[in-house]
Amino acid sequence: MREKYKRVLLKLSGEALAGSAGFGIDNDVLDGIAEEIKALTLGGTEVAIVVGGGNIFRGVKGATKGMDRASADYMGMLATVLNCIALQDALERKQVFTRVQSAIEMRALAEPYIRRKAVRHLEKGRVVIFGAGVGSPYFTTDTTAALRAMEMNCQVLLKATKVDGVYTEDPKVNAMASKFQNISYMEVLQKGLKVMDSTAISLCMDNRLPIIVFNLGEPGALAKVINGQEIGTLVHA
Ligand code: UDP
Repeated sequence: MREKYKRVLLKLSGEALAGSAGFGIDNDVLDGIAEEIKALTLGGTEVAIVVGGGNIFRGVKGATKGMDRASADYMGMLATVLNCIALQDALERKQVFTRVQSAIEMRALAEPYIRRKAVRHLEKGRVVIFGAGVGSPYFTTDTTAALRAMEMNCQVLLKATKVDGVYTEDPKVNAMASKFQNISYMEVLQKGLKVMDSTAISLCMDNRLPIIVFNLGEPGALAKVINGQEIGTLVHA
C-alpha cells in the first residue's frame, strides 16, 4: 500500500477530454471524468485540477506552421480555458462546487489566480480548476501542474494518461516493454522517459513532490490511487 491522500492535484491533458476522436471535447468522456472526481470529493479528498489544451491547440504545432511561438502559446493557454469551462459545467451538473481560476485575467469567466483564495476554496471542499497554464508562453500545463501542486500544498501530483504507468518503452510500439512500479525523478530524466516535460520533472524533483502516473480510462482508477492502492507508477526521490 502507498499513502492515502487528502489533497491532490490532478493533471488532465486536453486529449483526456477528447475521447476516441482525439480532438475537441467528448461529452460522455467528460461526464465520466466528472463522476470520478465527484466520488473523490464525496470521500473528503480536496481536489485541484490543471487542464491541458492539446485537444484544441498546441503552441509548438502552431510554431512549426510559421506562427510566432509566443502568439501560438497564448492560443494554447486560451484553449485550456475552454476545457476548464467544460469541466466546470460537467462537475456542477453533478452538484460538485467548483471555481475556475485563470492565470490570464478574464474576469467575466473565471477568477484571477490568487493562491490564498484557491487554498481557501479547497479547504471549503470546492474543486479548483486552474486555467491558462502559468500565464506565460514556453511553458506547459505539466509544469503548471507541478507548480500549482506545490503552491496548494498538495501531497501528490496525479498525472492522468492513457497508459497504466511509466514503461521502459512505449508499450504500444514494443509489446516487450515493462512497467515501472516505482522510479526516481533522476531515472526519468536520464532515460528520457516521456512522463512529463523535463521542466515539470525537475520542479517536482527539487521540491520532492511525488507523481503518480496512471490510466484514467480504467474505471475507478482515480479512487484507487487516492486510497493508496499500488496502481500506475510512482515517481519519487
Ligand atoms: N501553454 C503555455 N504556457 C503554459 C501552459 C500552456 O504557453 O503555462 C500553451 C502551450 O502552447 C501548450 C498549450 O498551451 O502547447 C496547451 O497546453 P499543453 O500542451 O500542456 O496541454 P496538454 O498536452 O496537457 O493537453
